[in-house]
Amino acid sequence: GQTDIKLVDAPEGYQGDGFFTTNLDKVVGLGRKNSLWPMPFATSCCGIEFMATMGAHYDLARFGAERVGFSPRQCDLMMVMGTIAKKMAPVVKQVYLQLAEPRWVLAMGACASSGGIFDTYSVLQGIDQIIPVDVYVPGCPPRPEAVIDGFMRIQDLVGNESLRRRNGARYQELMASYGIQ
Ligand code: SF4
Repeated sequence: GQTDIKLVDAPEGYQGDGFFTTNLDKVVGLGRKNSLWPMPFATSCCGIEFMATMGAHYDLARFGAERVGFSPRQCDLMMVMGTIAKKMAPVVKQVYLQLAEPRWVLAMGACASSGGIFDTYSVLQGIDQIIPVDVYVPGCPPRPEAVIDGFMRIQDLVGNESLRRRNGARYQELMASYGIQ
């Protein structure tokens, strides 16, 4: 019979009478984008703003991302927040490699994105020098609203990603450019 259930954020396709058509990419993407497990890699002040983002007022749990993990093996979104010294860079890369595919990276704040105000010999001038970044969130620090906006952009990427992308030549080339096999 006729259903009045609204398929919020439903994958595209025919809808009606309790069923809809779609494809596997969209179903998997829908599940993934609403169950991202962030791994915060916080080194300084932006990490404090991330705590505000996770608190009750901004409530990242609304997006299915309240399960913050500190083991990269159990996470799929690396959020780098803070100044990354060049001595720390190999650790950032190692942690990134420990996330299982598919994995995404959000650079939170000016320091993680570009070195920020620390234009000096000892600071990495952006984590994209060592790992691929999916979304950059500007600010020093970014407000929680900006972090949420960046997170929603990650969700868009996740939800619309083809399951084949990571086996494709362009993705392999991107990884190879970072020395990742
Ligand atoms: Fe701190 Fe600003 Fe750098 Fe964030 S961007 S870690 S607030 S100095």
